Amino acid sequence: MIHFKFSFYFLLLLFPAVVFSQDVQNNPKSNHGNKFEQLGTILPTPNIYRAASGAPGQGYWQNRADYEISAYLDEDKRNLKGSETITYHNNSPDNLDYLWLQLDENEQSTTKNAGFDDSSFLPRTATSDDLKSTELPMKNNGYGVNLEKVTDASGKALPFVVNKTMMRIDLPKVLKKGEKITFKIDWNYNIPDRMKMGGRGGYEFFPEDGNDLYTLTQWYPRMCVYSDFRGWQHNQFTGRGEFALVFGDFKVSMNVPADHIVASTGAGKNFEQVLNSAQLARWKQAQTADEPIEIVTLEEAKKAEKSKSKERKIWKFEAENVRDFAWTSSRKFIWDGMKVIIPENNNHVMAMSLYPKEAYNLYRKFSTKVIAHTILTYSEFTIPYPYPVAQSIEAANGMEYPMICFNFGRTEKDGTYSEGIKNGMIGVIIHEVGHNFFPMIINSDERQWSWMDEGLNTFVEYLTEEKWDNKFPSRRGPAHTIVDYMKLPKNQLEPIMTNSENINQFGPNAYSKPATGLNILRETIMGRELFDKAFKTYSRRWAFKHPEPADFFRTMNDASAENLDWFWRGWFYGTDAVDLSIDKVTVATPNLEAVPKIRENIYTVDAPSQNSFEDISKIRNREDKTIAFYTDKDKDLQDFYWRYNRGQEKVDRTKEYNSKSENFEKVPQKEKAALEKITAYQIDFSNKGGLVMPIILEFTFEDGSKLTDKSSAQIWRKDEQKVSKTYYFAKKLKSIQLDPMRETADIDTSNNFWGEIPAPSSKFEVFKQKQGASTRGAASGKVNPMQAAGKK
Ligand SMILES: [Zn+2]
Repeated sequence: MIHFKFSFYFLLLLFPAVVFSQDVQNNPKSNHGNKFEQLGTILPTPNIYRAASGAPGQGYWQNRADYEISAYLDEDKRNLKGSETITYHNNSPDNLDYLWLQLDENEQSTTKNAGFDDSSFLPRTATSDDLKSTELPMKNNGYGVNLEKVTDASGKALPFVVNKTMMRIDLPKVLKKGEKITFKIDWNYNIPDRMKMGGRGGYEFFPEDGNDLYTLTQWYPRMCVYSDFRGWQHNQFTGRGEFALVFGDFKVSMNVPADHIVASTGAGKNFEQVLNSAQLARWKQAQTADEPIEIVTLEEAKKAEKSKSKERKIWKFEAENVRDFAWTSSRKFIWDGMKVIIPENNNHVMAMSLYPKEAYNLYRKFSTKVIAHTILTYSEFTIPYPYPVAQSIEAANGMEYPMICFNFGRTEKDGTYSEGIKNGMIGVIIHEVGHNFFPMIINSDERQWSWMDEGLNTFVEYLTEEKWDNKFPSRRGPAHTIVDYMKLPKNQLEPIMTNSENINQFGPNAYSKPATGLNILRETIMGRELFDKAFKTYSRRWAFKHPEPADFFRTMNDASAENLDWFWRGWFYGTDAVDLSIDKVTVATPNLEAVPKIRENIYTVDAPSQNSFEDISKIRNREDKTIAFYTDKDKDLQDFYWRYNRGQEKVDRTKEYNSKSENFEKVPQKEKAALEKITAYQIDFSNKGGLVMPIILEFTFEDGSKLTDKSSAQIWRKDEQKVSKTYYFAKKLKSIQLDPMRETADIDTSNNFWGEIPAPSSKFEVFKQKQGASTRGAASGKVNPMQAAGKK
């Protein structure tokens, strides 16, 4: 879904100045906080179902449910009645003696809901409606699922128990591996007023013309997921944590007022029976159209609004290999469509939009084209879009289902609209259509992990928005947009790896922070080529399967040869922020006359000494006949490893190392002039926020030229709080900017700049290295005598 959180900005006003670094300064941590250690036991142990590489294992399995449903929409009573046949396939190695199903509509009941209350506070103002609603929890409000009948295929009653939003059906005999069972449920529920009661499905009433627009979602009893990693996923539905669902095929018929237009998950199977001949002709025309064609026109929709048919029509739809099925019905709908061909799999897709006249000027122009752009772009970054249709419905919200989603974006009464509404609409359509990939196809457990669908989807949404319009005002994705969240006090933050129900700042935590993290990986840490391949590998491996977080983390490492455990650990499992600081810059120029001589013993070598304790390894090694024989003349070199490496020959390590320093010689006169221009800058950094990141520096020289250098995050691996780096420049440096592109989400940029060049504070000594003197010694990775001399 799309998430709005206005209170987030309000909270920022209440807590304006948060000084993260105090935490570090007041409670000094040990130097090594394990930021670079493997995730290890934080991740589940790989097994035959889930491989250590992050791919599905050789024994991977998942269960499946096929549905046949007849639905009857009673517009007068605003009641939906259904008769459902489920065939459940047990592909697990386990015996099942009961099944769990989800009754999501019980969320709307005052007596059957999950009862996950939140703190509540005295309001500043209240309406009489608010005060009335406080009486509701005392009595049954009439919403929630009414179960009429639960039977086996032959009509014999099956025992069942309802626990709030979950229902257990006890099986007459154990369902073994490879077996399937068919059973039936008849039910009905009163459709809630979605605009007043909230929730993801219901009706919206349009007082001006007296019509409803129905979004029928979570509307039938749905199978829970039984998996290798948690057995039954039957955490209660509270309205927050979304869904965990199994794949299957659907055959659904909807009996609705004859003047309604219906759209749903899947392909329509009887349009010739439900559309008039003109509409049917336009439907056929749209299937080869490159521009959206109105299948039901504005004029037809306006006319339909004016009366209510007493006749009925039955619409039929089928969908294959989907994890859910949703639909919409109203006489208010205008319907347009065009074809889109996905190049990667040559799939011919019908992109279609349905909307009331209140959204006409926006949806007619943009919606279907945005769908096309979205499935094309996601196909490029993840897997080719596999389904026959992709639809966007205007329903004043933002919520996703396979092949169909509900979005917002209405014009003013005169048909005009602001840029803000337009961009909001484009953003929500990209987002909700994008959910076809995460989680509808790459079918993660939303009830447990919101980030696995919202975060990954928001990331690709950002890429898609960028490709739509390079100036698109994306709210989530760029690193700097997460800074306000990352600076919040710790008592308002949870790790991304937090159960959906327990998150405070839901939008930033489940959407923005993971999306931003992936963007930082792509742009700053891995680079696009490595990242894109790894991300695509994850998508391909887990399409039409049930991935877990470890499968994602492992695959990203596996496909890129980047050990990103430090990043997963910091960004996904922690709440630290990035705040790198330039603490000090020490400037030095060469003193060429002072020490033209090689300095001896730059490297100190500990002389081999006899160990006073004879440990078991030493004893066994001595007894090992395959190891070189020890003689008295080597008495001063009794250490096994020393002898083993060197044989019987005594080696003077000090001499050996000293011979290496012959590589460094006096600076020849002819190079003096060039070297005299070199200035060295030792930059001391500290990690005030706790989260490690690459150090990106932009140097500006006095002649106006610029140079950028990046040290990988691993620079922090031996000291997670303080590092230094020395640069040698022949040009005079004017200033240093840390993270000039604001790509690391650094929460305090006031300590990211150094802009004064003080008089040289010391002189340093210069030697020449035979391999060639480097003006960028610290970056070269070679042993640098100037560094060695300067650091004691
Ligand atoms: Zn979403």
